[in-house]
Amino acid sequence: MRKFTQKTIALVLTFCLVFTMAACGSKDPSSAEGTVKATGVGNGKHGDIKVEVAFTDGKISDVKVLEQKENEVLAEPVYTKLKDSVMQANSAEVDAISGSTETSKGYLAAIADAIAKAGVTLTAGSASGGNAQTEEAVQNFDVVVIGAGGAGFSAAIEAKKAGFNVVILEKMPTVGGNTLISGGEMNAPNTWVQEAVGITNDSVELFYEDTLKGGDNAGSPDHVKILAEKALSSAEWLRDEINVEFIPDQLFQFGGHSVKRALIPVGHTGAELIKKFNAKVAELEIPVKTDMKADKLITDDSGRVVGVEATSGSGQKITFNASKGVIIASGGFGSNVEMRSKYNPVLDDSYMSTDTPGTTGDGIVMAQEINADITNMENIQTYPVCNPKTGVISLVADSRFDGAILINQNGERFVEELERRDVISQAILAQEGKYAYQLWNQDLEAISKTIEAHPDEYDQLVKDGLLYKAETIEDAAKFFNIDPAKLQATVDKVNKYAKTGEDPDFNHRAGLASLEKGPYYIQKAVPSVHHTMGGLVIDTETRVLNTDGKVIDGLYAAGEVTGVIHGTNRLGGNAIADIITFGRIAGQQVGK
Ligand code: ADP
Repeated sequence: MRKFTQKTIALVLTFCLVFTMAACGSKDPSSAEGTVKATGVGNGKHGDIKVEVAFTDGKISDVKVLEQKENEVLAEPVYTKLKDSVMQANSAEVDAISGSTETSKGYLAAIADAIAKAGVTLTAGSASGGNAQTEEAVQNFDVVVIGAGGAGFSAAIEAKKAGFNVVILEKMPTVGGNTLISGGEMNAPNTWVQEAVGITNDSVELFYEDTLKGGDNAGSPDHVKILAEKALSSAEWLRDEINVEFIPDQLFQFGGHSVKRALIPVGHTGAELIKKFNAKVAELEIPVKTDMKADKLITDDSGRVVGVEATSGSGQKITFNASKGVIIASGGFGSNVEMRSKYNPVLDDSYMSTDTPGTTGDGIVMAQEINADITNMENIQTYPVCNPKTGVISLVADSRFDGAILINQNGERFVEELERRDVISQAILAQEGKYAYQLWNQDLEAISKTIEAHPDEYDQLVKDGLLYKAETIEDAAKFFNIDPAKLQATVDKVNKYAKTGEDPDFNHRAGLASLEKGPYYIQKAVPSVHHTMGGLVIDTETRVLNTDGKVIDGLYAAGEVTGVIHGTNRLGGNAIADIITFGRIAGQQVGK
């Protein structure tokens, strides 16, 4: 018995040479069959990420995510590719996944926390990132689509349905682009939701007029007409073919629209669209190559586009031949400060952006190299109500579309809240401090349900002192150092206008809502670069035109990379209508 005990102690001591005393104590880690497990917590983009890390012989042998609230699409490569890197490097000190930085940081912090708790002495691993698969250097397809946002997915699905062998190239580790992180709302006239909520005064013509006027008549009337005519069938296609679920009895009325016509996907974000697109391309067996950056368009002797040169995440150069055509759906250039400043010097790095890091205008530059024409490049839209700390669009603040008001530091309204984004942005920038506050009450939240739809964003804003829930107007004013009497006077006026239905100050087009009853929500906001209206010139069949106005054979473009639709200013909810409609047209036209 004594001998056995000594042997046991010796074994335990040997064990403790690899795993320090902490692992052998009564702390968090648990041990089974030579494997020690410990849990750790890190702060992701939308809250805590809790992991369980297993250690075997001084090595990280597994990482399991126990709890998390991250964006499903953006988190996917973190929990797969980054996990592989961690295990290969045997360390939490590896590079974050680009485009999923916050989630990566939270995940790595959670693993580091587990390592510390386990007290494990980790053996040296190999350099991370070496697990990239080698690709065929030359690959042949009928159609190559550049960019896996809403336009790229729509184009690829239609091209596949037309019988073509299609590939999607996406430079980021995750798919989705700006479509994923948008609110996902989509304008269309005469929808089933308008019918359900009793809106009978919309029409294709009214949508056409609103859209053209919203861009100061600088958009191409022919393209806007197609957008207005096809928006309903695009929405039905999303609903019936792609299985996107829209809220059946709620619509938004974005600025510049005459009626409520924006369908809202469940969850109030583009994640619903991208999740369903992902499922559809998997079902149709369309390969999506992430971490694959298109660098250059390949042309033949006649000038026809016949392929794309690309670089993989591991630096491998790959040629994708496209016998029927290339569709550029690479999005805008909101994240490219140099390009922004080149075309509109005002929008330099003093502005943050709501956009994903992938929106750097690559498709525009690539096409220009083969003489493609561009237009409207100086027209860059700022979104008025964004997070002053991160520049990220505030979806909680969508309560504005149901009657939340905007006020300045003096507690006064200064603009019609349903004005166009560019007008509101300029008005905010003209206020003291170049910021605004948005104010609404619980009655409005009960209608728009934006806090209910975005609880993580709400919690973070509250934590950062950028949003405050107040019982009274006085309380709301004091939180942000606004004169309570002035704010009360503004709210009294709003309540009076809500009763009369007239807003003599700013002529609120939907009529103001009553803010008589608390509790109240008050949120600080700034404008941030959001949408680049300019881009490639396309004809109505999405064929890219050169600087002589002639078609470049084999080259198509759709989505934010194009510049002919929105003129000086894109109206809210029109991006999804545009990218789905013209993405589908590109996929139907390629190879014809
Ligand atoms: P849209 O709304 O027009 O569909 P998104 O911003 O949603 O635009 O999607 C565009 C996608 O294109 C993004 O995911 C972006 O990362 C990707 N992209 C941009 N440049 C390239 C490139 N050079 N190669 C491959 N993908 C690209």
